[in-house]
Amino acid sequence: MDKKDILSMDKEELKSFVKDMGEASYRSGQIFRALHGRMAESFSDMTDLSLKLREKLSSQAVIKGVRLIKKYRSSIDRTIKYLFEIENGYIIESVLMEYEYGYSVCISTQAGCRMGCSFCASTIGGLERNLTAGEMLSEIYAIEREEGIRVGRAVLMGCGEPLDNFDNVIRFIELISDPEGNNIGKRHITLSTCGLTEGIERLEKLKLPITLAVSLHAPNDRIRKTIMPVAYRYGYDDVIKAAAHYADATKRRVTFEYALIDGINDRSRDAEELAHRLKGIMAHVNLIPVNSVKEKDYRRSSDKKIREFSRILSENNIENTIRRKLGSDINAACGQLRKSYSEKKGAL
Ligand code: SAH
Repeated sequence: MDKKDILSMDKEELKSFVKDMGEASYRSGQIFRALHGRMAESFSDMTDLSLKLREKLSSQAVIKGVRLIKKYRSSIDRTIKYLFEIENGYIIESVLMEYEYGYSVCISTQAGCRMGCSFCASTIGGLERNLTAGEMLSEIYAIEREEGIRVGRAVLMGCGEPLDNFDNVIRFIELISDPEGNNIGKRHITLSTCGLTEGIERLEKLKLPITLAVSLHAPNDRIRKTIMPVAYRYGYDDVIKAAAHYADATKRRVTFEYALIDGINDRSRDAEELAHRLKGIMAHVNLIPVNSVKEKDYRRSSDKKIREFSRILSENNIENTIRRKLGSDINAACGQLRKSYSEKKGAL
């Protein structure tokens, strides 16, 4: 019999699992708090349960988490990047960032990615597999255990496209925000997507008070298509419309991410066109100097161009910020570390 993935179970599933084992229902609350509140790594750590029950659990279920294999500390800020191994030997990355208001963790939602954005390292080898909800949770739990901290915010901006792994991601959001568990409030969770409009619409219907970020990276379809293949499937206007609708329905400001790439999307007229397209939407633009990726020939825009781009948006009343680059010395951008680690391992 396959052992059950207990970390990915929602509360109802855990209740019926406990019931099917012939145990009293209050046990499921105890197990939930041990798994998600105290981040137990094994059943033997659950010392508030009888030995017999712990043995029964071990024989029927498994706590399927990620395994820490490497840790990189930035020497210029307090950012830490982690490489984790998941079942089947795939490698994923997570990043811990420290802000004035506390700790934030950027998690991966898939090993690899099939979206094919031309500037992104995560997608170079295609999609390896979806992460389970338990694996996503365990990226955060492993970091909390390792550093002895509590994390206050989660951003779904690591490897993968969260809306391409929709059900597991929603399950993750429900579990990580449970007050009896890690209790990271939904308002402190940001989900970033390359703009799968039907996914945005599905998300909107769930009425979760999370922040939606949309990776736009261009002022129109023509430029977007040259860097994001997903633009062939989802038209620019439809992506903007879905995001605007999401903002209206949830009363939460949407973030548009815009990675500035030298000579591709950073001209003054691109900024003017972007401002025009976003007029009237409850939105914020995050300008990100693109991180160069070894395999790609993209360079970041000059600081002068970035400031000029930002000024034009502001002049047109489009709120924007230039993202502070954290962990730039440890390749804290998507997928770069994981790739170079796997290459080195392969070369040994
Ligand atoms: N698939 C989702 C989430 C993961 S990518 C999405 O597309 O939003 C997280 C963010 O990092 C996205 O905005 C993505 O476009 C951006 N990104 C990827 N590679 C980058 C690079 N080399 N430099 C700057 N930003 C990058």
